[in-house]
Amino acid sequence: MATLQERIARVEERVARACAASGRDVADVKVIAVTKYVSLETVSAVLDAGLEDIAESRWQDAEHKWNALGHQGTWHFIGHLQTNKVKDVIGKFQYIHSLDRLSLARELHKKAEAAGLTVNVFLQVNISGEDTKFGLPPEAVPGFLREISGLHRIKVVGLMTMAPYEAEPEETRPVFRGLRELRDELNLLALTPEPIQELSMGMSNDFEVAIQEGATQVRLGTVLVGHEEGA
Ligand SMILES: *Cc1c(COP(=O)(O)O)cnc(C)c1O
Repeated sequence: MATLQERIARVEERVARACAASGRDVADVKVIAVTKYVSLETVSAVLDAGLEDIAESRWQDAEHKWNALGHQGTWHFIGHLQTNKVKDVIGKFQYIHSLDRLSLARELHKKAEAAGLTVNVFLQVNISGEDTKFGLPPEAVPGFLREISGLHRIKVVGLMTMAPYEAEPEETRPVFRGLRELRDELNLLALTPEPIQELSMGMSNDFEVAIQEGATQVRLGTVLVGHEEGA
């Protein structure tokens, strides 16, 4: 089995190759380590290895890791966020990648206001249209941005999507391209104080395609940090 260092080196090489293939600068693609499948010890090793961005998808699983290591690195919340869990994650995760509904936006704003901070969010968009995926339908995003524009504690930094699992990763390309095109269209409408920059897209199975289509943040679990039984 490859060591963590070997896996990181291999991923960095694949990221560099995908960037080269699409004329992009590696500095514009951030690798986020998704640690939901691994132990606290492994998260610690990931940070020691020099990766700075850690992502978790459920507070129940993340809590003990954050309590031990939250003072290091940058923490991203990438899972479906229940409104009643906002109080647990606010101020702990610098980025929330899964804003997908107005009730959640209102709660994030309220808790951020009470804590005196700004919360950086990605809007999760369901580009593929699968019923099983969370996320706003693309056509609803402009209206959503208008509705949350008064919630000044929320800063929309990017868009996030998940592609369906495909045995042939190339088949995910239209999903990633769709998210990039949506971002560019939204920026023409200028619905946010500053242009939306980030595209959080690409996972273990499809990150190279996502990078070729403009991903600025890839969320990598299995391929990067592994998958430990019972972690
Ligand atoms: C689990 C998860 C990932 C990482 O999945 P891998 O396929 O193991 O890389 C990325 N994004 C989200 C939203 C996830 O829940």
